[in-house]
Amino acid sequence: QWIYLNGDYVTKENAKVSVYDHGFLYGDGIFEGIRIYNGNIFKCKEHLDRLYDSARSIMLDIPLSYEDMQAALVETIRRNGLRDGYIRLIVSRGPGNLGLDPKRCPSAWVVIIVEQLAIYPEEAYRSGLVSVSVSQRRNIPDALNPKIKSLNYLNNILVKIQANLAGVGEAIMLNAQGYVAEGSSDNIFIIKQGVVYTPPCYIGALEGITRAAIMELCARLGYKLKEEPFTLHDVYVADEVFFTGTAAEVIAVREVDGRMIGKGEAGPITTHLLEEFRKIVDVDGVK
Ligand code: PMP
Repeated sequence: QWIYLNGDYVTKENAKVSVYDHGFLYGDGIFEGIRIYNGNIFKCKEHLDRLYDSARSIMLDIPLSYEDMQAALVETIRRNGLRDGYIRLIVSRGPGNLGLDPKRCPSAWVVIIVEQLAIYPEEAYRSGLVSVSVSQRRNIPDALNPKIKSLNYLNNILVKIQANLAGVGEAIMLNAQGYVAEGSSDNIFIIKQGVVYTPPCYIGALEGITRAAIMELCARLGYKLKEEPFTLHDVYVADEVFFTGTAAEVIAVREVDGRMIGKGEAGPITTHLLEEFRKIVDVDGVK
């Protein structure tokens, strides 16, 4: 396995970062999770746009042009000989000193890891996940703006810990006002009487690339979609609930906080959206 590290390709054993790296010391950096399907970097432009926007917002200079970054992704995939997998692209503030000051970090570090992906078994897409809501709230202050995909994932990790304690794969996080925001690493959708709902990102959700792809698919397939705030009550009484994410794709939820959703399996619209989503994954992107 070859890992891209600041322009070099190194083995896993040699892919090392300094203990003075501000990504390590302070979570000062950004990242993207991207899928490759049949040699296609799915929604490559959308992921790079989000990465460069996150960088601009936190005043992080990415030492590669957009074109060079895309070329580095393509080359890392080629060297690893993978047609299907998951790419983790990380840009950290780089090594500095123990102080917070990013001025002490002369150059950002870029890491690209390409791996095989072990995600939910196919059966889970038919039966749906069991989920719970958790007490952890989505942070929305400036630095933890959900639009910035930063390395500060402690909040999401606390959600994941609560999901683990409840024995479920993904949990539902609310914002400080009690509106449903998202999962630990997935966006959320509900369906009621044929209408598809997802919270607007200002509620406290990442502008997920899969979320955007599903919204586009809804428009194309003629499903009415509303981006509006909703509460746990709306989730409990929904006909269908599903999560979206780069790793999870479109995964149905069959139970939330002990309430059965719909018939307790993946519903028809969720299933249709997943089918249509899988038709575009090796087309829509960069070969
Ligand atoms: N929300 C959070 C907090 C995430 O980390 C992710 C995964 N990147 C998502 C939602 C889903 O976004 P995407 O579809 O771009 O993977």
